[in-house]
Amino acid sequence: MPARPNSPAMDASHTAGLTPVAALPGIGPALAEALGRLGLERVQDLWFHLPLRYEDRTRISTIAELRAGERVQVQGVVEAVERGFRYRPQLKVAIGDDSRQTLLLRFFHFHRAQAEQLQPGRRLLVFGEARQGAHGLEMVHPQYQRLADDAEPSMEDRLTPVYPSTEGLGQKRITSVIAKALALLPSDEQLELIPPELGAAHGLTSLRDALMYVHRPPADAHVGQLMLGRHPAQQRLAFEELLTQHISLKRMRAAVRRRHAPVLGGDGGLRKRLLEGLPFQLTGAQQRVSDDVATDIAQPRPMLRLVQGDVGSGKTVVAALAALAATEAGHQVALMAPTELLAEQHLRNFRQWLQPLDIEVEWLAGKVVGKARQQALARVAAGVPIVVGTHALMQEGVAFARLGLVIVDEQHRFGVQQRLALRDKGLEGDQVPHQLVLTATPIPRTLAMSAYADLDVSSIDELPPGRTPVQTIAISNGRRIEVIERIHAACREGRQVYWVCTLIEESEQLRAQAAEVAHAELSAALMDCKVGLIHGRMKPKEKQAVMDAFKAGELAVLVATTVIEVGVDVPNASLMVIENSERLGLAQLHQLRGRVGRGAVASNCVLLYQPPLGQLARERLQVMRDTNDGFRIAEKDLELRGPGEVLGTRQTGQLSFRIADLARDAHLLPAVQQVGSEMLRHHPKRAEQLIERWVGVAARYAHA
Ligand code: ADP
Ligand code: MG
Repeated sequence: MPARPNSPAMDASHTAGLTPVAALPGIGPALAEALGRLGLERVQDLWFHLPLRYEDRTRISTIAELRAGERVQVQGVVEAVERGFRYRPQLKVAIGDDSRQTLLLRFFHFHRAQAEQLQPGRRLLVFGEARQGAHGLEMVHPQYQRLADDAEPSMEDRLTPVYPSTEGLGQKRITSVIAKALALLPSDEQLELIPPELGAAHGLTSLRDALMYVHRPPADAHVGQLMLGRHPAQQRLAFEELLTQHISLKRMRAAVRRRHAPVLGGDGGLRKRLLEGLPFQLTGAQQRVSDDVATDIAQPRPMLRLVQGDVGSGKTVVAALAALAATEAGHQVALMAPTELLAEQHLRNFRQWLQPLDIEVEWLAGKVVGKARQQALARVAAGVPIVVGTHALMQEGVAFARLGLVIVDEQHRFGVQQRLALRDKGLEGDQVPHQLVLTATPIPRTLAMSAYADLDVSSIDELPPGRTPVQTIAISNGRRIEVIERIHAACREGRQVYWVCTLIEESEQLRAQAAEVAHAELSAALMDCKVGLIHGRMKPKEKQAVMDAFKAGELAVLVATTVIEVGVDVPNASLMVIENSERLGLAQLHQLRGRVGRGAVASNCVLLYQPPLGQLARERLQVMRDTNDGFRIAEKDLELRGPGEVLGTRQTGQLSFRIADLARDAHLLPAVQQVGSEMLRHHPKRAEQLIERWVGVAARYAHA
């Protein structure tokens, strides 16, 4: 057995858990490889490979009891068989049972032998999902087995787990492998990594029992509760998973804090001059958050601070003030934004504010190529004080002279990895830059504690004075003409309007086309108003020209794709129409709507929708009508969609839990935090083992 180098001090559970799966009896290289694809390399990975769902084969339902959507087991006698060839080959088998009802089984893929086997009079045990067909309930491709004429079907005495699997690895196979691993589960005391006194204090039940239960729930288990992940056994596991994530984020953060960072600050002269030049005064919230940041970056330890503030709360100027502190201290600043449009806008704001102070601002985006790029890179390397750009800032070949502060706007669109990549541009020995992260997606508190445990959080919880809340209504697309009339009237009153096209297509080209169509429609309908168009396929110069014209009031209406979603700032625009609003998520709707309501004029938002509305879409539009409060919207979003999406990190997998669900399990977090800090302080070794257990394979790959 290819043993890992274990220290003799390691306990038995750790040793059994670390055994490679290939060492289990009956597991050959092919099977081990398939398991490896699922990230299952060690015996303990199998212990923690939890069922996706359960099937109840402990009992037989009568056909009369069936309801659409249920996955159940039925026993019946074949009454009729029909082979059809309309459109595609099809085998239809009607079975009946003692409840004197008939259930139709449909097969689209079948062998001739199979068709011949299913003769009238044969008894079958069938398992599948009942669904509503044209003529009553049916099951498509159910699993089935023939029963001998007088044999009683053998029932399972436990619920059947269904595991996440991969090609070539059937449920039977993976279930039996997991059974082998479970046979090696050590005793409770040996398996448990959470110190008993802490576990007891928080009423944690036995981990061993919890694992055995979720892998093999008894026949009388509450399936509904299990499916929702609310069973105490699952909650016990969710607790441990959340604890592990919390501990690993805290450790990451501690590791960063042990490093050094440049002390940023000077006499505050630049700050003073910028503030004097602004046409407004900072709000109390801006002042407070700006002070938090100034205090942080004046320390020789790296700042990791998230500034969250609703759309329009004025995060940009807070970022600019931080940048000035770095400039005064002779360090460079990188400001990264997720879209080119937003980055361009930051560039303009920064140049407008900082040029009077004789501070140079460099531009670096993907579209800066060739000689211009070479020159930009040379200036960055030579120490230009401030560089604004997109993810192009993180690419290879970009080298800073003295990067002291990294500012990332709209963080939820970047993963942690990307954030770290930019930070690493500033590594000098053990010195790292400070990091300031701005987000307009207000993050519900529970989520912030967990997802951003590696960051400090400041909130700009106050909007600049004089803003009037946006009035929002939802209107069916059937009344589109009325809406266009309304725009016409608004334009004649000198108001400016966004018309947002929201085609959700992968291709920028299709999105652009949809916007062009709307542009043509509106141009024709609003003959005496100037209608502009902006979309992602246009050149930066063209986009800029259009934005400038809109800002200057030369265009009355701006037809746009969702490129304007983040950051675009035209205070005079006071009406927004969002097409197909039913397709967008709450966060995106809120971002879009945040483009209006920026001036003193009362603003309106029209959510055009295509009926009929689904339940979720209806709820979303209702939330949008009810509130302008980003925090409430984010809470609601979390409820409706789940945290991965709220944070926009689904792809990066940063928050993909195996069992925990932040929305569902938020009530566990306070205890998770307490146990977490105790363990880090007094049981670092066990904390390490927890990470190894839960993060295991994924982490090992990530560090590779
Ligand atoms: P966001 O937080 O959405 O990034 P911005 O920084 O773009 O917000 O600011 C939105 C608008 O509010 C800008 O036009 C900005 O100049 C203005 N603004 C920022 N702070 C104040 C303030 N204290 N008083 C008045 N207007 C402000
Ligand atoms: Mg912004």
